[in-house]
Amino acid sequence: MTKTLYMSNYTRCAACRYLRRRCCEDCTLAPFFPSTNPTRFAHVHRIFGASNVSRMLQQIPEEQRSEAADAIALEAFWRVQDPVYGSAGVISALQTEISGAQRELAETQARVAVYAARARSANAQVSADEERLGDGAGAGVYLPSNHP
Ligand SMILES: [Zn+2]
Repeated sequence: MTKTLYMSNYTRCAACRYLRRRCCEDCTLAPFFPSTNPTRFAHVHRIFGASNVSRMLQQIPEEQRSEAADAIALEAFWRVQDPVYGSAGVISALQTEISGAQRELAETQARVAVYAARARSANAQVSADEERLGDGAGAGVYLPSNHP
């Protein structure tokens, strides 16, 4: 009896440990809130409440519970970090960062296009000058009429 009690205390999940209750074998929260990560459940309980989370997880198919628990834990984590905006704050900050990067990319591409156009125009000018110089030199130096 003492050994069983000791074992159940030892293997209590983070949820049951936090709520100071015995963790039964069919504990709904045990697979998703291991005793090794007590903060994960503390956030979830603070934001959603243990019974609500337990009910939510029971209402969905077993194969989707792990993903749902991860989503709930992430949502709770960000809500604790940012009580007003929660995960939406992170999404908004990342969208701002993305649009800033896109604007910077567009500006850089425009600059590259300007420099490429200038380089093409300078090359065209140089070859036109070379052509003109070639004609002039030919006319000035090699025209037989200039020589006696
Ligand atoms: Zn438990």
